[in-house]
Amino acid sequence: MSAFARRDGVLNAESVSLTDIAAEFGTPCWVYSRHAIEAALDEFQRELTGFDGLVCYAVKANSNLAVLNLLARRGAGFDIVSEGELRRVLNAGADPRQIVFSGVGKTAREMELALDIGILCFNVESAAELERLDGVAAAMGKTAPISLRVNPDVDAKTHPYISTGLKENKFGVAYEDARALYRQAANLANIEISGIDCHIGSQLLDAAPFAEALDKVLALVDQLAADGIVLDHIDLGGGLGIRYRDEDAPNVKSYLQPLLQKLAGRQLRILLEPGRRLVGNAGLLLTRVEYLKPGEIKNFAIVDAAMNDLARPALYGSWHDIVPVVPRAGLPMPWEIVGPVCESGDFLGHGRELALAAGDLLAIMSAGAYGMVMSSNYNSRVRAAEVMVDGAQTHLVRRRETVEDLYALECRLP
Ligand SMILES: *Cc1c(COP(=O)(O)O)cnc(C)c1O
Repeated sequence: MSAFARRDGVLNAESVSLTDIAAEFGTPCWVYSRHAIEAALDEFQRELTGFDGLVCYAVKANSNLAVLNLLARRGAGFDIVSEGELRRVLNAGADPRQIVFSGVGKTAREMELALDIGILCFNVESAAELERLDGVAAAMGKTAPISLRVNPDVDAKTHPYISTGLKENKFGVAYEDARALYRQAANLANIEISGIDCHIGSQLLDAAPFAEALDKVLALVDQLAADGIVLDHIDLGGGLGIRYRDEDAPNVKSYLQPLLQKLAGRQLRILLEPGRRLVGNAGLLLTRVEYLKPGEIKNFAIVDAAMNDLARPALYGSWHDIVPVVPRAGLPMPWEIVGPVCESGDFLGHGRELALAAGDLLAIMSAGAYGMVMSSNYNSRVRAAEVMVDGAQTHLVRRRETVEDLYALECRLP
């Protein structure tokens, strides 16, 4: 069953028509499919059968509590990057022993919190961070489990903003420096070496860079063993891409099988950190056409969602399919699908061939990952509601903000 399919011509989320969702919850509105999220996690967990493996969902892709809770209930762990994400996953029912903490800028306070609840591992990204973590752990009389995020310097061939495994990126420890830093870590009293970690980029459509990165990481694992440093887990990061338009995204099996083969026979627990792949195609952004403004050079369809809701097109030039909820008869023509925000970069799609009328509902597809989490209140626009569909049921999992919410934290001068 596809999460979003047509019934009698009308686009549905599972068994609920998007027309009904718009009527009940208003637009713009994020719509997620429970079934699609669970199926995506199952695909990873199935491949890991027979291995000591753990899927740690990268929370930054979509951090709604309902999404996190669904995944926690199915045994997923979490990859977090901030105190906010840590407290979200705990609130959603995560097991602390299934949380890994990534990110280049962990504060001392964040380290304290994570040590206090006893997370599985800190993915350390620099020598300076290692030193700080050792100090924080010492002050608490604790030992911090760590892996070093190693930068294997492979080209993931993705958008420069979401490529992370190259030397020029801010992430991780340079491959050549990793061995020495592990030796240093081994001498720190309040650090316990647990694993090794790498994450080479996002929206990867080719399985080859993952294998290339793993080969380099495994070579390092062997060098470390020669130094007497034995690791108990390897964290292969996230990054597996999805289909937005017509891309051939590898299936989970063809991505993981070559990696698992390389790992067979090693006494290493396997951690994965997928984000986009678990939620990207499980969500859409529902919007309504406010005005049509045909012109000499371009035709603008002004919709009620904007770049503050879905930033990816403006930020990365990303493509999202845009489809009518109820297709109408008539000659399609090319439309610029734009929002009301006062920026020329505020677009959701260029030159889309559609037959449109004011009032029509449009679904902006593949918006489950890096959608709501990147939305802002620019132009004092309230953030949209989020709805989770489960079969024939709908659940409002985040209410639409009110304008009062927007200035609740502000005050006038006395
Ligand atoms: C962003 C990120 C992920 C998830 O990336 P996806 O491309 O969404 O799978 C995993 N691990 C780390 C360290 C990340 O920064």
